[in-house]
Amino acid sequence: MSAKHIRTTADLVRFNAAIRIDCPHCAAARTLNGAQVVQLLGVCGFEAAEARLRCGRCGGKGARVTVLPPV
Ligand SMILES: [Zn+2]
Repeated sequence: MSAKHIRTTADLVRFNAAIRIDCPHCAAARTLNGAQVVQLLGVCGFEAAEARLRCGRCGGKGARVTVLPPV
């Protein structure tokens, strides 16, 4: 199944998918599953999630969110 139907954090839980978050400033990357994302950000679209995420390493904003297709 492709990831194109996954548009919000709630969809991650529904489809058992995960996201990768890349920091453009220090190249830190981490992977979160749907439950972790909802716990962190609540239910929102990925644009809103990107706007709210802050890098745990350098504190920079502007993270890039990539949806990882369900396995
Ligand atoms: Zn960073």
